[in-house]
Amino acid sequence: MMNEAEPLPCADKLVFDTAKEAQAVATSSEYRYGSKLKVYKCRYCSLYHLSSNFDD
Ligand SMILES: [Zn+2]
Repeated sequence: MMNEAEPLPCADKLVFDTAKEAQAVATSSEYRYGSKLKVYKCRYCSLYHLSSNFDD
């Protein structure tokens, strides 16, 4: 049974409505900080996050 009060595992992550928006931030971050970020669609909230972990 779903518990609405249960925080999502991704609650502390940046969240984006579209992959395009997430990708724009990822690209900007890579340019500014040299950190590669991966855009992925979250299976918990069905929105998009950035991850620096390329192994998952
Ligand atoms: Zn999420």
